Parts: sequence; C-alpha cells; structure tokens
Amino acid sequence: MTGRPATTDLVVIGAGTAGLPAAIEAARHGLRVTVIEKADRIGGTLWRSWGQLSAGGTSLQRSKGIRDSPDLHFDDVMRISKNTADPVLVRLAVSHAPATIEWLMESGFDMDPEAPAVLHFHEPYLLARTYWGRNAGRSVLDVLAPAFEEATAGSVTLELNTELVELLASAPGRVDGLTVRRPDGTLHDIEARVVILTSGGYAGNPELFPRFTAGSPLAGPGSPGADGSGLLAAVAAGGRVRGQERFLPTYGGVLKSGSSWETVHLDDYPALTPQARQPWEIHVNARGERFVAEDAPSVDLRENALLEQPELKFWVVYDATIRREAPALFPTWSETELDDAFAGHPSFAMADDLRTLAQAAGLDADGLARTVAAYNEAVASGRDEFGRTHLPAPIAEPPFHAVLNHGSTLKSPAGLAVDGELRVLGPDGPFENLWAAGEVLGGSTLSGKSFVSGMSVTPALGFGRMLGRRAAGADTDPGSM
Ligand SMILES: Cc1cc2nc3c(=O)[nH]c(=O)nc-3n(C[C@H](O)[C@H](O)[C@H](O)COP(=O)(O)OP(=O)(O)OC[C@H]3O[C@@H](n4cnc5c(N)ncnc54)[C@H](O)[C@@H]3O)c2cc1C
Repeated sequence: MTGRPATTDLVVIGAGTAGLPAAIEAARHGLRVTVIEKADRIGGTLWRSWGQLSAGGTSLQRSKGIRDSPDLHFDDVMRISKNTADPVLVRLAVSHAPATIEWLMESGFDMDPEAPAVLHFHEPYLLARTYWGRNAGRSVLDVLAPAFEEATAGSVTLELNTELVELLASAPGRVDGLTVRRPDGTLHDIEARVVILTSGGYAGNPELFPRFTAGSPLAGPGSPGADGSGLLAAVAAGGRVRGQERFLPTYGGVLKSGSSWETVHLDDYPALTPQARQPWEIHVNARGERFVAEDAPSVDLRENALLEQPELKFWVVYDATIRREAPALFPTWSETELDDAFAGHPSFAMADDLRTLAQAAGLDADGLARTVAAYNEAVASGRDEFGRTHLPAPIAEPPFHAVLNHGSTLKSPAGLAVDGELRVLGPDGPFENLWAAGEVLGGSTLSGKSFVSGMSVTPALGFGRMLGRRAAGADTDPGSM
C-alpha cells in the first residue's frame, strides 16, 4: 500500500448497471462518492445486454389498457421460478420496478414502441410487462451515462482501470474501506463510511464458473469484466455464496470460432424459440439421441431437458432441403457467412452421409443414424415419441448439416447472500455498511432456477438507486423515488 488512505462517504465498486444509478442517487443527495471501475469505460454488461426490463403497474401499461401490479408481477416470478427465487428480494425488486421504469422514461429512455409485450425467449409472463429500448442495453446506458457524467462534475470521483483488491474489515460486521490497484500497479487504501459492491457476476470467467456453479461448464456471451473478482473479495472478507445449485442453461448458443467458452453475440444465436420460428431440425446429444420435443412451447422444459445432457451440448441436425426451404435458422447470418462457417468453424459440420457427418461433428454415428431414421418415420406417420407436432420434412437430402450448440449462460447463478436490506451476510450476521446489488447477488436470487424476463437489469437499476439513496440517509420507499 502506498500513501495515506483517501477518505470518502461512499465507495461504489463497479460502474455498471447497478453501480451507476447507486452513484448518481448518492451524489444527488449530497454524498462524496468514489467509483472504482476495473475497465477503461463505464457501462459494464449494458454494452452487450439486451437490457430487457420488467415491471407491473406502470403508466405505460395503463396507457395501453394493461391492468398489472407489483403483486401480480411477484406471483408470476414465483410461478415461473417454481418458487425457487428468493421471495423477500423478489418482493423488494417488484415493488421498486415500476418506479425504475418511470424514472427511465422521465429521463428520456428510448422505449421501443412495441413495449410492453409478452416475450418468449424466456418462459413468458402472463401479462405484457417486458420493456426494452430500441438500442437494447445501450438505451439504458444512454440514460445513465449523462446523469453520471453530471455527477462526476460534482461530488463523484471516477477511477477507471482501477480494481478492488481487498475489502478491509477490522471488526466483525463492518468494513473500513478497501484496497484498490490503480493503473500504475500501486495499491491504495480508501476509507469509506459505506461500501456498495456492484461488481457484477462471473459469467465471463470460465475458470471460476464451475466452482460456483456445481461443476457446470461456462459457455456464453458474458462480459470479460464479469470475472467474479468482487465476489471473491467479499468472500475473503467473510461473505457467503448461495445459489450454486440453481443453475439452468439458456437453450442454445454457438461458440465464437477459436474460443472454448465465449459464444457469438446473443443476437446471432440460432433461432430456437418455437414461438418465433418452428423447428425443422432435430436436436441431438453426443450419443446422437434426441432428448426433447424441439417445438415444446415451454423453454423452461427444454432448458431442464438440456441440463441432463452430457456437457450441456447439443447438435442441431438438418439436411439440404431444410436449409433451402425452412425459414432461416441463423437469421442474422448471410449465406456467405454460413458457407464460411461450414467450411472452417469447428462447431459447424457438413457431409454427404450421416456417418461422415457424425464423425466430423463428434457424435455417435450409430445413435445419429437410428435417431434420424426414427424421426423420419415420425414425419411419415405424424406421431413423434417426444410429442413434437411440427414435423414438416424428413432429414434425407444430402448434404447433411450439424451445428454444435451449448447450454449457455447470460447471468451467473450464484452470488452473495444478503438480507432483506441488501446487507452482505457474513459469519456473524449482516455487515452493517457493506451492501450489494446487481448480479453479484447471483442471477438465481431473483429468477430462481429459471429465467424471468427483465429480472436482472431492472433490479440492478432499482436496487442500485435504492442503496445510493440509503447511503445518503434519504427515503428509499419506491413511491418516493
Ligand atoms: C448478452 C446478455 C444479454 C442479457 N440480457 C438481459 C436482459 O435482457 N434482461 C435482463 O434482466 N438481464 C439481461 N442480462 C443480464 C444483465 O444484463 C446483467 O445481469 C446485469 O447487467 C449486471 O449488472 P451489474 O451491475 O451487476 O454488473 P455489470 O453491469 O457487469 O457491472 C459490473 C462492473 O463492475 C466492474 N468490476 C468487476 N470487478 C471489479 C473489480 N474487482 N474492481 C472494480 N470494478 C470491477 C466491471 O468491469 C463492470 O463494469 C443479459 C446478459 C448478457 C451477457
């Protein structure tokens, strides 16, 4: 450590989805705030997130005749998560969600005119309560960035390229501050009355992921900044991790060529949502066996079936007829990009017979041959062993195609245990002045072992705002925000 410790009212660790609103609110209420950000820019996961939000009981819903409320939102989250989400924190999140949407809209949020809607990428809500900006997560950042810039002209100090190394805790249940590493490599202490940890998850760290996710491998479009270092620092200070057992993969995702874990951007995933595009292909595991009705309307059912498959891998298998006649499986890819992928991308295989295809893709050849024969019989008879009803064409015309997909991760499931006031729980109870918001709480805290639309970005914003105000001693009732 070099130099005398700096002192401030509040340190916010991570200038992302939750950290920016925390700093903005604290500064608005007069606090001196230091924001520590490891990256060379603010924004965190908002640069790549879809930024979908959810709230029940907003003015936008009312203007479209949708009768909704935080209570109905709560019931729906618990229904979708099969009661595996944390009811106390879900209640807190849904009660703040409408105010979060109103605040974004009052701040010039570029709301898509189609919102709110029922979306189907995740298990759908019963009501239209998902909102999104025309520029996905960037639309949220477009609101936060100017407000944050204004705050940095006042009482907020931003330290970019600076990372939390250690939380300093001299007495049980309290932190005195933290040690950071500045861009020149030197270590500095900062003393603070309150520390808010908003350092995100670990969905960009393939080494750490299996440790906190019961051995499951990482594949996903996670931000490289989501390396779990803030979570580890809190654990070293006595914080507890929960949610390791509540991992559920997102259904599908193709790796970037050359990467062992990073997928292409979510926008470039194959279209595997039957409500958007009915499947013409079959999905098989490494044994060459199907494991689910590819057109099952419940994505939760398909995700849970995928969870049982070796290494969370499956291959989407089809033929020349399907490639020619079906709606595009890769809607954002040009034919040239697909040709290039089949020529050189390790996840894409093409061959004139099924046995060669299986060998090229790394599948069991006998299993694949049996599966395709059985599927073609199902197409002829109209009766499928998995109950699939969309059976448009057999898989019969060479060349045959196989594309390796993964159960992917958009948000890391496990995170810090906190109490109902978002105080980090240590061995002796809650830390009185170490609070946390965002994905560092674990994505499963508010979605359980499932995915619930908007239940990461919205609570990250809402909880961030709430904690910023609380640090300043201001009212945190959702009605006053
Ligand atoms: C492709 C994709 C699409 C998604 N779509 C949706 C969606 O539509 N709706 C939804 O609800 N959720 C979605 N999510 C999840 C959601 O975006 C994230 O959970 C949320 O943005 C995380 O917010 P956060 O503030 O916790 O973390 P971030 O926004 O990631 O911010 C954390 C910040 O902390 C910094 N940091 C990390 N460690 C340290 C350290 N040691 N010291 C200093 N700084 C540190 C990071 O650099 C980063 O800037 C998506 C995720 C992805 C990857």
